[in-house]
Amino acid sequence: MILALESSCDETAVALFDPAHGLAGEWVHSQIALHEVYGGVVPDLASREHLQHFAPLLARAFAVAPAERVTRIAVTQGPGLAACLAMGLAAAKSLALAWGVPVAGVNHLRAHAFSPFIGLHAHDPADFERALAALLPHVGLLVSGGNTALFSIDRERRIRLLASTMDDAAGEALDKGAKLLGLGYPGGPQVERLARAGDAKAFQFPKAVAQKSTLDFSFSGLKTSLRYTLEKMQPEEIERRKADLCASYQHAVMDALARKTKLVLAAGDYRSIGLSGGVANNQVLQTEVEKLAQARRVPFLRAQPRHTGDNAGMIAFAAWAEREASGIDERGYDLEIAPSLPLAAGG
Ligand code: AMP
Ligand code: MG
Repeated sequence: MILALESSCDETAVALFDPAHGLAGEWVHSQIALHEVYGGVVPDLASREHLQHFAPLLARAFAVAPAERVTRIAVTQGPGLAACLAMGLAAAKSLALAWGVPVAGVNHLRAHAFSPFIGLHAHDPADFERALAALLPHVGLLVSGGNTALFSIDRERRIRLLASTMDDAAGEALDKGAKLLGLGYPGGPQVERLARAGDAKAFQFPKAVAQKSTLDFSFSGLKTSLRYTLEKMQPEEIERRKADLCASYQHAVMDALARKTKLVLAAGDYRSIGLSGGVANNQVLQTEVEKLAQARRVPFLRAQPRHTGDNAGMIAFAAWAEREASGIDERGYDLEIAPSLPLAAGG
């Protein structure tokens, strides 16, 4: 059994993963309500919350799996907020020392990248290796509040970065757009909710892409364009047309994601498509990516809602799935935080 701890940002999370059966338990304490009033995550408050909440969450995990059943500990090493990552590492290393078990540092972004395969494992743990091999090479789209990346996973389970954002992440663009529209934080779900009643063609926002020659994303121009559009409107008109504004803005973000994904798919011989990260909850995006998968006749795998945001289930799963393939770096007690750890090398 692997015990995983996650505290890279504003979620304190603990999970237990049994390779023979799947996830045995997942516990999360979300701090969204605490940070909402500030319109974003306040690092000092977040790390203090982690300090408070790890013990009660771990107590619940111990009730499911006593110490003697835990053979390994996995912890998010980065990327993330330094003060927050340190809380997870301190707790993980203390437990490892007390129990005499190894502790592995997990790359949070790689865990997101593997999160669409958690369901594949749960479906038939014994057949996982074969089932995964049939889906590689894989193209994944990771879209969250801090990251926007297109990447591939090859047959050796090596991750290669194919495209990323040159400025804002997709979720960040939605959050900032929502703020301009006077909606709460996080903005993505609110934009999606209002957009349902709106017309995506009502407003023309620029395509959120960098030069045609690159695969990289650029979302900051889109946000600026929304600001200029709103500046030209009267408050009553903004209120009256909020659904159209949300639908059009959301469309611009999702369209950019789908277009670049399509280009990447056309350039290689991929056997599956994955979607992960918080923005993966967006139904417009899910439909777009699913269409791309259908057009290429390959399976579409998406992370389940409880594994799209920050969670420890994906950390435990990645610690296992990646080690099975390549041998994760088990540095044990000298493990350090890595606040700017990249998903993978590009090129
Ligand atoms: P994460 O960074 O993975 O915790 O995800 C948080 C990000 O996902 C925030 O930017 C949210 O606005 C965004 N998000 C969450 N749900 C949705 C949704 N249904 N549609 C669009 N964005 C979403
Ligand atoms: Mg989060």
